[in-house]
Amino acid sequence: MKILIKITYRLIKDLIKMTAEKKKQKQKLTVTPEFTLNDDFEPFSEYDSIFGRVKWDKSMKAYKIFMYDKVAEILDKNQVGYTQIDHAMAIASWTVHDYFRNAFSWEKMGSPANIMPGTELKKYDVNKDNIDRITKTIKAVTKSFGADMVGIAEYNPNWVYTEDRAETAIYMPEGITAVIAIGTIMDSDTISTSPSMTQGFASGMGYSQMAFIVSSLAEFIRGLGYTAIPTGNDTALSIPIAVEAGLGQVGRNGLLTTKEHGARVRLCKVFTDIPLLFDEKVDFGLTDYCQRCKRCAEACENEAISFDNEPSFKTYSKSNNKGIYRWAVNVDKCYEFWVDNGGECSTCIAVCPFNARSGKVFTDPADYWKKRLAEQ
Ligand code: SF4
Ligand code: SF4
Repeated sequence: MKILIKITYRLIKDLIKMTAEKKKQKQKLTVTPEFTLNDDFEPFSEYDSIFGRVKWDKSMKAYKIFMYDKVAEILDKNQVGYTQIDHAMAIASWTVHDYFRNAFSWEKMGSPANIMPGTELKKYDVNKDNIDRITKTIKAVTKSFGADMVGIAEYNPNWVYTEDRAETAIYMPEGITAVIAIGTIMDSDTISTSPSMTQGFASGMGYSQMAFIVSSLAEFIRGLGYTAIPTGNDTALSIPIAVEAGLGQVGRNGLLTTKEHGARVRLCKVFTDIPLLFDEKVDFGLTDYCQRCKRCAEACENEAISFDNEPSFKTYSKSNNKGIYRWAVNVDKCYEFWVDNGGECSTCIAVCPFNARSGKVFTDPADYWKKRLAEQ
């Protein structure tokens, strides 16, 4: 009898210990601000991104079907928010991003034809006594160039693409120590017309602003004698970098979500070797919030966002990088909707309660145009 009691006691003790350990392990998993990675994780190739795969992956439903393939057919219906005016404005908003390709040059730009040649100056000395001031100066200058949010993270090679969309290997230069993450807030009136073609204007503007900001900031850093690699969506994953730079967290919709404007923020970044102080990551309880709130999943036009209560390591296709604990988005489904829509969609951005703190959730494109025209 005594032995039986002893065995039962030991079994109960082991069970309690195992439950406590399991609980502890579970607690350690975080979506953000710290990322939980498992052994499946490896740096991502942009060749596997949806915009890379659409050109080569025959297993995709939308293989070789491009975002604007259905535009003519959609415009023929002449629906509010889907007119030639809306489409032309959305496309035009990308102009600076798409045609000023020097904006993303890894080299210092040469002397432009219309001004005097520049002068080579010595490297600006950054030391422990002025590093705080230089860090603040970099942030102030970035904001002067048009950024709304700036954070600085330690360089983390985990987030650099192994290859670009054309399968060319990417090698970050030796000596890079920091990445400056930049956010520009997209216009709320425009985003809230999603999924109309009208809202595409806000995304395109964000991309064109990126080109202006990162190219100017990179030239500023080069002017101090340091290396600067200006990037938009290319070269590295902007979202985890922005998280590590303290701009926000990742939500159920897979986007960088800020406390003040939700995911209504476009991201870009500049890698550099200038010594800088790093920002703290932020945790405003987004993961817990997303566990209860599923508004983005409910609003998504093509069920691309997970309804799962808990985040996990689940992925849907090659376009989700493996081994990251989060709610992965079914980007194939998202892209298929973009094709049917004749352009991008921002519905999951608009409906998020964190966007609603400073922005609108829905505006009828007819009211949007009424307001814009009345202002003239
Ligand atoms: S962008 Fe639109 S289609 Fe894509 S996940 Fe968000 S709501 Fe869904
Ligand atoms: S809509 Fe809700 S669930 Fe989706 S990202 Fe925003 S807070 Fe999270």
